[in-house]
Amino acid sequence: MTETTALPAVSREWHLIRRPQGWPVAEDFALREVPVAAPAEPGRILVRNLHMSVDPYMRGRMNDVKSYIPPFQLDRPMDGGAVGEVVASTAEGFAVGDHVLHGLGWREYAEFDAQHATKVDGAIAPLSAYLGVLGMPGLTAYAGLFETASFKEGDAVFVSGAAGAVGSLVGQFARIKGASRVIGSAGSAEKVDLLTGKYGFDAAFNYKDGPVAKQLREAAPEGIDVYFDNVGGDHLEAAIGALNVHGRATLCGAIAHYNDTEPAPGPRNLMMAIGKRLRLEGLMVSDHYGNKDFVKDVAGWLGSGELTYDETVVEGIENGVDAFLGLLRGENTGKMIVSFTG
Ligand code: NDP
Repeated sequence: MTETTALPAVSREWHLIRRPQGWPVAEDFALREVPVAAPAEPGRILVRNLHMSVDPYMRGRMNDVKSYIPPFQLDRPMDGGAVGEVVASTAEGFAVGDHVLHGLGWREYAEFDAQHATKVDGAIAPLSAYLGVLGMPGLTAYAGLFETASFKEGDAVFVSGAAGAVGSLVGQFARIKGASRVIGSAGSAEKVDLLTGKYGFDAAFNYKDGPVAKQLREAAPEGIDVYFDNVGGDHLEAAIGALNVHGRATLCGAIAHYNDTEPAPGPRNLMMAIGKRLRLEGLMVSDHYGNKDFVKDVAGWLGSGELTYDETVVEGIENGVDAFLGLLRGENTGKMIVSFTG
């Protein structure tokens, strides 16, 4: 039986219409209208999206290259994390009014097999938090620090992209778990103040103010034990220089290079990894879905007030591409969210 509410005739969705060369531009995308229909087959739901995620990894999906996740197809809707409200259902266990987390963002309405939806509770946390601190970026920070980097109490930790969704949590998780020193880098004076103020980092610097290696040496005179890399490039090279013997680096992202048209050269000082017995390890958050401790720990730290987070919210699906481009330019503090609630 279909349970449903009144539906609009059309939904808007963002299509990739041309593969960006270097920095994406507005002409690479189109906002198109498609009909909305309640599910016709059993086991399906129609969801009105309330918040969608824009994430740096989406830039890679705009290229036609083989990767860990398939590229976006041209003239098809893009996809990504979203939270919405069920407005029609033929699926057992999903009622109109339920809130779900799913993977069909970049559109106002999504109709799909309910097996691909996870129910979320807006009474436990704001719904957008399931796209950030309690969602994929939160798990990335948690698994990347505690598993990939084998963080232990007393480690000195440096994180780049430190005022972003992942980085702001990495630094706070390290502080909460007893890091001897937490250092962050970010791209503005306001972000640096946020790191050493609200987030409780011990030191922070603006990577645009001067060479990263020099600023890191000043911020971490005794070196670092863990580097959480969101940026790549000169940040990774500086961190290799600053890592102590048996240091570990989580290679999480390389946003400095996502719009490069040629592959960037690797760190010139990689040879230091030999003498210092460094471990540089890649992280895929998808390897950690189902982590048993993540939600329990993070919800506990939020509840106790030890952990805080920020969101930058852009209103309206029509501003979705601008929000994505703004994310690449550093216009976000914490998680960049596009909301359709206005
Ligand atoms: P953020 O919220 O950190 O947003 C991206 C930030 O990158 C911007 O706010 C900007 O901040 C910074 N940035 C942009 N260009 C540069 C540059 N050239 N040099 C230094 N910083 C730059 O995004 P997320 O927290 O969602 O993601 C952080 C990283 O983690 C990304 O690299 C992403 O791809 C990666 N990631 C990897 C996952 C995995 O499984 N491996 C999963 C999730 C994320 P600023 O103002 O400081 O420049």
